[in-house]
Amino acid sequence: MVKYKGVTVWFTGLSGSGKSTIADSLKEKLKSMGIKRVERIDGDVLRKTLCKDLGFTKEDRNTNIERVIFIAKLLTRNDVIVLTSFISPYRKLRNIGKKEIKNFIEVYVKCPLEECIKRDPKGLYKKALNNEIQNFTGISDPYEEPKNPDLILYTDKETVDESVQKVLNIIIEKGYIEI
Ligand code: ADP
Repeated sequence: MVKYKGVTVWFTGLSGSGKSTIADSLKEKLKSMGIKRVERIDGDVLRKTLCKDLGFTKEDRNTNIERVIFIAKLLTRNDVIVLTSFISPYRKLRNIGKKEIKNFIEVYVKCPLEECIKRDPKGLYKKALNNEIQNFTGISDPYEEPKNPDLILYTDKETVDESVQKVLNIIIEKGYIEI
């Protein structure tokens, strides 16, 4: 049986960089290893539920992330492996997560803006570039790159499987999963 501890793996990066794709795939991988306590917390899902009262001003984005930190903290201390996928553009809030959550791995999902625009999986960049939506990260709103993340995934160069393996490796290296 695989032994594991609670940890939050915090994926940050531009829209379309691959946060959800990699987190979903990692969840499947962890399940296939017999790890039962895994939770995904996804930006799009939360914005339709717990955070449906919030918009995209700096203040609302920060409130959104504060709520995620609160949930992730409770789950992590109950030995759940938590995979969060939020743009989380502000360094200050990510650093609060790092401080509040005892086991925390910051993963920067790095992808050039031009590539994210090309992918545009939800058609949002097109809208943002046409001024149909405002405060869009990378176009009309800032993204503060992590200065010292635990891991960087280069999703324009790596396959999804390679990125997933890198995240799994660091979780094992840091001792949260024992195999
Ligand atoms: P985010 O959650 O960061 O907004 P998504 O995971 O929703 O991003 O979208 C990323 C898109 O890029 C998906 O359509 C995915 O199939 C595609 N993609 C192409 N190559 C990669 C890669 N190496 N890693 C992750 N996603 C990739």
